Amino acid sequence: QPFENFKLNKQLLEAVRDAGYTKPTPIQEQAIPLALAGHDILGIAQTGTGKTAAYVLPLLMKVKYAQGQHPRALILAPTRELVMQIAEAVVAFGKYTDLRFVSLYGGIGPKTQIEKVQAGVDIIISTPGRFLDLYKKGEIFTREIKTMVMDEADKMLDMGFLGQIKGILEVIPVKRQNLLFSATFSGKIEKLSYDFLEFPERVEI
Ligand code: AMP
Repeated sequence: QPFENFKLNKQLLEAVRDAGYTKPTPIQEQAIPLALAGHDILGIAQTGTGKTAAYVLPLLMKVKYAQGQHPRALILAPTRELVMQIAEAVVAFGKYTDLRFVSLYGGIGPKTQIEKVQAGVDIIISTPGRFLDLYKKGEIFTREIKTMVMDEADKMLDMGFLGQIKGILEVIPVKRQNLLFSATFSGKIEKLSYDFLEFPERVEI
């Protein structure tokens, strides 16, 4: 089936077309309708499967347009490289929207990142540590976050980010949609899904 069968708006379908995608990948085929319907998702998918668009498109559809000052969606990823890669997808698919996004990661001073957050943001893409740092500095208002994504969750756990992830979950609203993607399914991921997801739909390829 073509992308047009998904309940995505014209702006997103146009951007998908510009990206040269003609047919959804299997993970997109499964995850996009479920995510658009508001379900929590446990996605087991490796890099190269199209997992990024599988959550970015429904997230952009939900957040829709620039609104207010504070972030309404948060995407967590283990590394600066992955944060930047996800940001590229957000830029590409959000090109016909006015949505504002900020990428946050460590290894550089926080000043520019803080200024961008203060200028108003709809979507934050971040490594767990830097997000929590800026939150603790009082620079991020988290009460309006309604969608949270964890990409490469297995890698985040391997890198020892569980404590930081739990710290973040404590300061964002309980009522939210959660999308968790992991390349592997282990006992640790099962435990994390149990704590993080509510009646998740499992998609796997
Ligand atoms: P990902 O697994 O999200 O890292 O995506 C892997 C690569 O596949 C990226 O270069 C995407 O741009 C590309 N891609 C994702 N979905 C599709 C699609 N439906 N059609 C063509 N290319 C795609």
